[in-house]
Amino acid sequence: MLKEAEKNHNIVCSIVIPVYSESSHLSKVFTTINRVIYSLQTLYEFVLVDDGSPDNTWDVIKELAQQHPYIIKAVRLSRNFGKESALCAGLEIATGEVVIIMDGDLQHPPELIPEMLRLWHKSDADIVEAIKISRGKESLISKIGAQLFYAILNKLSAYNLRGASDYKLLDRKVVDAWLKMGERNLFFRGMTAWLGFRRVQIPFEVPPRIGGKSGWSIFKLIKLAITGLTAFSSLPLHLITFSGCVFLIFAVVLGLQTLFFKLIGRAVDGFTTVILLQLIIGSLLMISLGIIGLYLARIYEEVKGRPRYIISEKIN
Ligand code: UDP
Ligand code: MG
Repeated sequence: MLKEAEKNHNIVCSIVIPVYSESSHLSKVFTTINRVIYSLQTLYEFVLVDDGSPDNTWDVIKELAQQHPYIIKAVRLSRNFGKESALCAGLEIATGEVVIIMDGDLQHPPELIPEMLRLWHKSDADIVEAIKISRGKESLISKIGAQLFYAILNKLSAYNLRGASDYKLLDRKVVDAWLKMGERNLFFRGMTAWLGFRRVQIPFEVPPRIGGKSGWSIFKLIKLAITGLTAFSSLPLHLITFSGCVFLIFAVVLGLQTLFFKLIGRAVDGFTTVILLQLIIGSLLMISLGIIGLYLARIYEEVKGRPRYIISEKIN
């Protein structure tokens, strides 16, 4: 397929990079990745998506695109839509026979690209995914948060995404299938896992960021975690029903006991029981409503049918 695409002068490999406030090191990142892929002597393109960066990332991208007009396509989103939406924009624009998704901070080592392409070419794999063997330098909260999230997701949905990263090579047919998924609440890793296809994994260690700081705030991460969990499992909703059933059993037992004591004229002085029951049931109801609310909010976002992102500027 590689040869065929090259013969027809089609782009063989698209490198999609979502960028958010990476102006200080973007040129260096581009040069490093470009050097690796240039040495492979294949037709390639870069798709840079500026995810509404508040700094001068877009100016840097424009400059790079002027210097390398034939290999850079770029779009600027009208505001910060989040990495998943930026990725989606990149995938829609990419025309390559294969698409490689990577971060714009060199935390996804470009040296893996030749190996990824080789695996795609040789082993019939449709998805080559880079798996983190260590998560690199991170705060304790992020580490624990990620562990917890993947453990819950694994229990709820049977998808084991532990170690998964967004550094992936996707065959054209995978990209086309991915783009057919019309949801607004995007969770790239989960969606690619859901797609299936033949996959091969290569391990990598996450190096430190080349510069700047992570664009993921705790709030953004929690939002993504909720999107991931609600999009890939409805088990929490069933758990509500389950806990309702458990409480029904308690209710019957306690009800019978109370009636019995009443009938034999020895009504319990159950003030503590009443308060405890009130509090427990109250909180359970609130939590259940909250869980239902989460799903409701997702449904609301989906039915509004808004575009997943808005493009404000385009280059090439
Ligand atoms: N990113 C983005 N939009 C955002 C946050 C991040 O496009 O709202 C990009 C960012 O520029 C980088 C990639 O997503 O290319 C990974 O982000 P980051 O390095 O901040 O995440 P981390 O490596 O800490 O998970
Ligand atoms: Mg990073």
